[in-house]
Amino acid sequence: MTARALPAGFSPYVWASTAEDVAARRGLRPQEVIRFDANVPPLPGVPRIPVGESFARLNEYPEGTYRELREAAAGYCGVTADRIVVGAGGDDLIHLVARTYLGPGRTAAIAPPTYSLYGIASALEGAETTSEPDGADVVWVCNPANPTGTLTPPAELAALARSLPDAIVAVDEAYVEYAGEDASVVPLIAETPNLLAIRTLSKAFGLAALRVGWIVASPGVAAELTSRRAPAPIAAPSARLGAAALREPRTDVEQTVAERERMRAALLAAGWACPPSAGNFLYVPVDEPAALADRLEEQGLVVRRVAGAIRITVRLPAENDRLLAALGVPVEPSRRRSALVVRTTSETALRVSLSLEGQGRSRIDTGVGFLDHLLAHVAFHGGLDLELLAGGDLHVDEHHTAEDVLAALGDALAQALGDRAGVTRYGSATVPMDEARATAAVDLVRRPHAEVSLAFGDERVGGLPVTLLAHALERFAMQAGITMHVEAAGTDDHHVAEAAFKALGRALGEAVAAGGDAVRSTKGQL
Ligand code: PMP
Repeated sequence: MTARALPAGFSPYVWASTAEDVAARRGLRPQEVIRFDANVPPLPGVPRIPVGESFARLNEYPEGTYRELREAAAGYCGVTADRIVVGAGGDDLIHLVARTYLGPGRTAAIAPPTYSLYGIASALEGAETTSEPDGADVVWVCNPANPTGTLTPPAELAALARSLPDAIVAVDEAYVEYAGEDASVVPLIAETPNLLAIRTLSKAFGLAALRVGWIVASPGVAAELTSRRAPAPIAAPSARLGAAALREPRTDVEQTVAERERMRAALLAAGWACPPSAGNFLYVPVDEPAALADRLEEQGLVVRRVAGAIRITVRLPAENDRLLAALGVPVEPSRRRSALVVRTTSETALRVSLSLEGQGRSRIDTGVGFLDHLLAHVAFHGGLDLELLAGGDLHVDEHHTAEDVLAALGDALAQALGDRAGVTRYGSATVPMDEARATAAVDLVRRPHAEVSLAFGDERVGGLPVTLLAHALERFAMQAGITMHVEAAGTDDHHVAEAAFKALGRALGEAVAAGGDAVRSTKGQL
């Protein structure tokens, strides 16, 4: 069997290396690798509906018109649902636009450097590519542009579309949420029917794994696209979770934009070139991008190599500081309190990235599932952003894992709190969970003390010895340098543990919150 011939010079889409690949290549542990190359937020978006519910009807096909998702996307974009076409991420929709408007004898206009998929999708349909919009059938525009971060005013793109009435001007707005108000062409589509916008949940929403994207187009273009769409491109659980996210949008835009500007100012002050960026990344032109990227990668800091530049995805403040330090850039501390703790031996590796001004997002992989679950509660209920990865022979013995992980989390909290000025200082919470009830109280004054009383019925909970949980919590308080009381009791041990960690999360969230200018201690400082 011979496949249809590909155009000369065709090269397929290439994925960046995973953290595991980079680690293997550089003799590092995966937990030491921090990816600044993927242009996705460092932590997953928090699902707005229970994930489990979305998987309840796995025997059934998705509802094929995706009405719920289209209506949610329409509401989010301020248009009607007949203008929305859904697909499995922006990538799927780029292919759909190419399939609908390109083919042999047709031409696509592409202005490099840009996202590689425009060229790939155009070539796969047998179209020619050119850099000249005049006479093209499809003009691909990435706005804000990947990799440069440049934003073209939407009115200019609408004017371009009006000057090319026989072409489709396809504006890929994957990063538009980071570009501020009025950056999208969406409001201009009503008067410019050959203009369309490609949008996604993969970037600002932090939901790239769901593979959900949508196009906003004029009703005629939307109908053409829909008639060529695959019958069910989005998995039903993704469509449900995606619709919920769009109805209640929660993005990382504010923190990421603040970090982007802080990093850019620091890079410029240190003499690096760094043009303004409207995305969640910075574009840094350099003479030898490969050599620089290699040098960073040896330290576990992975940046994207592009022609004549490196591209840096904005992450949590303490992680960004690590990268800036590797570039020799002195930094002004972020106003967001954050910490990065990396601890490695030849056998084990552990990384904690913590941000106190977070959104309750977490990615926790310690090798002990129940511990991951409990720590996710602390992050969620404390409004903290937390990435906590542990690997190596930590897996062999849950005792060491639990203790080391909680100790490192305590270190991270101490680091993020800095001089502890301006915090609320005290926090407390009582959390019931069915029959169980837990109370936690913390004081951030530097008097490390822990009173932990968890009344379990059995000797183990969630696979962990019950004594270990109390012990690990004590280590947390000692390392964090805080006073902490946690009490919990009930008849279901699982509930007891969960309630305890939820209460601790809430108490911590309250205590670390800004509490005004005054340091609330008779000693003048905490
Ligand atoms: N467009 C651009 C410009 C991108 O950088 C990316 C990320 N690779 C995508 C689209 C793909 O987005 P999605 O995850 O929605 O397919």
